[in-house]
Amino acid sequence: MSRIQPSSPETSRRMAKVRQKGTDAEIALRSELYRKGLRYRVDYEVLKKPRRVADVAFPGLKIAVFVDGCFWHGCPKHGTWPKQNAEFWRQKIEANRLRDTDTNSRLLESGWTVLRFWEHESPIEATDTVAQAVAIAKEKRCTSSPGVNKKN
Ligand SMILES: [Zn+2]
Repeated sequence: MSRIQPSSPETSRRMAKVRQKGTDAEIALRSELYRKGLRYRVDYEVLKKPRRVADVAFPGLKIAVFVDGCFWHGCPKHGTWPKQNAEFWRQKIEANRLRDTDTNSRLLESGWTVLRFWEHESPIEATDTVAQAVAIAKEKRCTSSPGVNKKN
């Protein structure tokens, strides 16, 4: 295994810039969720070995939310493959994508609901999707626990 390192100051600058951008999308989603009255955990460790952290999580309901940066995770709309240091970026982005897939299947196996959004997606629409998943999970939790009377 060779270590992946940024090979130029430009590359490092780009990494820093893109990382910041991803964070903005997460913050937009979080504030929209909060505005909707949803309470969640941020950067929550959903798996210990290997360690995986969800951007937003509802641990009680086992819902993990990820906001994937268009560049870092190779968005089909905005993913770009830089020509400069092409191999470095290809490895980096491919590694992220493989890890995303791996995280999804590990979480699904352990009963989590996984919601993934692209950085470019509307935080309002993403929030609707999350709110829906939360409502479904809450309902499931109610009807599956013994001693609770079902409505209707
Ligand atoms: Zn995108």
